Amino acid sequence: MIICFNKKINSFSKIYKNNFSLTQQNVQDLMPSCDDIHCNCPKCNAKSNFSYHGSYIRNISLIREEKNYDFQVSVTRVICNSCGSTHALLPSFIVPYKIFSLDSILYTVQNSMRSSVIVLSEKLKISFELIYSFIALISGFFNYVDSLNREQNQFKNFNHDYFLLNCLSICDQKFNINFFYRYKWIFLMTKFQNQKSPPITIGVNLIAST
Ligand SMILES: [Zn+2]
Repeated sequence: MIICFNKKINSFSKIYKNNFSLTQQNVQDLMPSCDDIHCNCPKCNAKSNFSYHGSYIRNISLIREEKNYDFQVSVTRVICNSCGSTHALLPSFIVPYKIFSLDSILYTVQNSMRSSVIVLSEKLKISFELIYSFIALISGFFNYVDSLNREQNQFKNFNHDYFLLNCLSICDQKFNINFFYRYKWIFLMTKFQNQKSPPITIGVNLIAST
């Protein structure tokens, strides 16, 4: 899979800030296409040389302005013309194999810590079990984030509570890129996390599309 950090994602943050209404097409327009990628193949490291190789539908849930929205988006798959490996193109707001977007999970955890799980559960109309699973998910990554923070000397007095209370602002785009380069893994992706030879290769695409 190739995670795309590009201009489309920045426009997503803009939509969020401007309280723009989210429609199926808005969200689909933010999904990366073949034209958006300019990175080496994550498997063979050949210079960007990919062709379209179909697509699949996946669900995505987004929490915006205290509401939960469900969408279905088409994910593009590409094939490397050098080694024949295939890669799904995912925007950086999607956590691979998870339905809720990255910032929706962060938003939910941060707000549940600042108010209460029950209140938030009623407001967002999602189960409190799901909120607790998000808290456990983020907590499960605390040690990685703590080490990264020590290395980069970014937040003083950083601890578990501080992390959960401020996770939405801490885990921004730059953080996610740093996390990937440090751990060669996607933040909050748990599938295959502890496997020595995961059956997927992960790459990132950092170049902004036009
Ligand atoms: Zn390749």
